[in-house]
Amino acid sequence: MTVAVSTRLDDVTAHDQLRAQVAEALLRVLPARAILSAPEDTRPYECDGLAAYRQLPMIVTLPDSEAQVLAVLRVCRELGVPIVPRGAGTGLSGGAMPIADGVVLSTARLNRIVHLDAYSRTAVVQPGVRNAAISEAAARHGLYYAPDPSSQIACTIGGNVAENSGGVHCLKYGLTIHNVLRVRMATITGEIVELGGAALDAPGLDLLSVFIGSEGMLGIVTEVTVKLIPKPAVARVIMASFAQVSDGCHAVAALIAAGIIPAGLEMMDQTSSRMVEPFVHAGYDTDAAAILLCEADGTAEEVEEDIARMSAVLGAAGAVAIAVSQSEAERLRFWSGRKNAFPAAGRISPDYYCMDGTIPRKRLGEVLAGIAEMETKYGLRCANVFHAGDGNLHPLILFNANIADEFARAEAFGAEILALCVEVGGTITGEHGVGIEKIDSMCAQFAPAELEAFFAVKRAFDPAGLLNPDKAIPTLNRCAEFGKMRVRGGLLPFAHLPRF
Ligand SMILES: Cc1cc2nc3c(=O)[nH]c(=O)nc-3n(C[C@H](O)[C@H](O)[C@H](O)COP(=O)(O)OP(=O)(O)OC[C@H]3O[C@@H](n4cnc5c(N)ncnc54)[C@H](O)[C@@H]3O)c2cc1C
Repeated sequence: MTVAVSTRLDDVTAHDQLRAQVAEALLRVLPARAILSAPEDTRPYECDGLAAYRQLPMIVTLPDSEAQVLAVLRVCRELGVPIVPRGAGTGLSGGAMPIADGVVLSTARLNRIVHLDAYSRTAVVQPGVRNAAISEAAARHGLYYAPDPSSQIACTIGGNVAENSGGVHCLKYGLTIHNVLRVRMATITGEIVELGGAALDAPGLDLLSVFIGSEGMLGIVTEVTVKLIPKPAVARVIMASFAQVSDGCHAVAALIAAGIIPAGLEMMDQTSSRMVEPFVHAGYDTDAAAILLCEADGTAEEVEEDIARMSAVLGAAGAVAIAVSQSEAERLRFWSGRKNAFPAAGRISPDYYCMDGTIPRKRLGEVLAGIAEMETKYGLRCANVFHAGDGNLHPLILFNANIADEFARAEAFGAEILALCVEVGGTITGEHGVGIEKIDSMCAQFAPAELEAFFAVKRAFDPAGLLNPDKAIPTLNRCAEFGKMRVRGGLLPFAHLPRF
């Protein structure tokens, strides 16, 4: 998809006038170097990791303090201009995709670790700090920040909070929401609000949980307090091979049923392992229909015991080969294949579309079989590499955008996968968020009253609907157009409800 360019002269003029007006107002509150408006400067911001969708922003701002964030919000509020917050732009659902007449608020310059307290095992960081940078800073105290998205070398904690991001170690250690104590944020009305606190629980309604995962629609994160935990003394990972994908799926459920919570439990099908092995040389069994990576961590004794228990369960579930990492270098090598699987897709396909749905673990086999049938139906290949322990699927649909209708087929394929996730009792996103990508699938997941409840929460934080509008929550009209709601007598149910 290319940038939406209006061909009408009066539209172009109106857009340029608005840009000039907003830039002038911003120049009164920000230094010139914090404002980008020339297309050659704003081009790098035209998309996030969902690069099929692009939109040049009107203006990009780069505030370097909370006061400057508030100033940008004030200008936009007064001029009625929408704002799209942006961290590193690694999001995969279009959450940070700009709006043509909107301002992108980048947190790239809010990148300071404010305070790291080894005694209370917490770190206070600005939103633009990279996920991996927190663990790098904490390492000298033997501590780290547990949630580890595969994008952790680039993605920011602000983006992680907005998406409630996960990673391979979240099965045991929890998602962002379980590892954040406090969020400080700027509201569109110009207030600074702190949600949560230094203690494990905070008084009042749990608005921290409402905010985490709200995809930039409720406020701008300006500071985050995260928990740090001790680095385990030892970690080892098992690579188990399966001749049938269904055996691997059964092994996942069997491990959890046996009362074992691995530090990571990831599955890669053969398409994925063959895609990544020549790239990373992780030592994967490329003859296996599926491989499972199961990590144990803790003291040396705990790890030895867990590895023995996990190996027994995997063997009983039908593993045809089991390899256990013999050194830290080998453990990291096993994981490097998994962590590089998405980029490796680029080696076998010009484009890929990464889906993200979550299902009950025990339905894994049936859903993967359903996806295999869809490959034939849509004439496109799909690689599956995912957080099996959490039931969080990441089908990578491979396509070539230069071939007419391939992207449309990939989108339809993705939507059908999400519909299947909902059908088996799951949800349309595990960790990548809804953004623009899955907005229509929200109509399949939620009833009109539920969508209205979501809008009511948004209105409470953002009455004018200026923060990341048209993302994550579909209007009822949109759902009707999408065909998921019945229109009776030419009228929508809840037609009186406001649209953002
Ligand atoms: C190769 C690859 C692997 C990935 N692996 C994983 C994975 O394992 N697990 C996972 O969960 N995700 C993964 N992702 C997705 C992505 O990295 C995460 O969603 C990440 O949290 C996005 O962070 P970001 O800083 O890039 O945010 P952006 O993409 O810039 O923004 C994401 C959302 O957050 C909002 N936002 C950003 N900053 C703020 C702020 N300060 N205040 C309010 N809202 C804000 C934006 O408006 C947008 O809606 C992967 C992506 C890639 C490209």
